[in-house]
Amino acid sequence: MRLRYSSLVVLWLLLVLPTTAMAQFVPDSLCTVDTLHWEPNPAMQARHAAVLNDRNAIQLEAAKRFGLRSPLPTREGAEAATAGLTFIESNDAYTVDSLEYSIPFLTSAAAALVNDIGEAFRDSVRAAELGEYRIIVTSVLRTVEDVERLRASGNRNAVPNSTHCFATTFDLSYERFYRLATADEWLNATFDPHEVTGILYADPERLTNILVGIVTRQRAQRRCYAIFERGENCIHITVRR
Ligand SMILES: [Zn+2]
Repeated sequence: MRLRYSSLVVLWLLLVLPTTAMAQFVPDSLCTVDTLHWEPNPAMQARHAAVLNDRNAIQLEAAKRFGLRSPLPTREGAEAATAGLTFIESNDAYTVDSLEYSIPFLTSAAAALVNDIGEAFRDSVRAAELGEYRIIVTSVLRTVEDVERLRASGNRNAVPNSTHCFATTFDLSYERFYRLATADEWLNATFDPHEVTGILYADPERLTNILVGIVTRQRAQRRCYAIFERGENCIHITVRR
């Protein structure tokens, strides 16, 4: 297993370590400081992909039934169409990624689902004593223009008939998890430009197993469809209510 750490660590080093009044930069509660980033192994991916395997056609049917009547052509003039949707933002249950090809709006049912999955993940990981982790939402509502830009960028999963165009669908990363830590943990850690030692990370395969288990239960309750995507390292979820 190989772990990569975000450039936040380096930034933290550059900004905080040279100062003498270090304490004033460090909150005494949990703070969001890092992302656990790993390279998922093919055997694990095959195992989960065999379970979460709802095809695009079936997800699209639900998206059209429960989501926007028609896709938004562009972001300009999207205000009226998004007025009936829920704006999602990072909270204590999940983190919304910096979205390049989508905008953070979902139907109320989809927004409730991502929240429930996020809370269940946080609580299960905590109960397993693996630490404080949050899921990362990597894609939400796409306009037709977003899909075209994404396809032009080389993403083959961005099909023209995307469920992401109906506000019923979101992606959750399983190659990155948000990690929260205490100030003490960071102050006691040892840094060099490429490595952090003294900080313990959870096994990301266990985190992925927990996430898949939660999504599988929601799917069994007929609350959503889901596919475990191997190219994009995310779980693509469409609400079905
Ligand atoms: Zn997706």
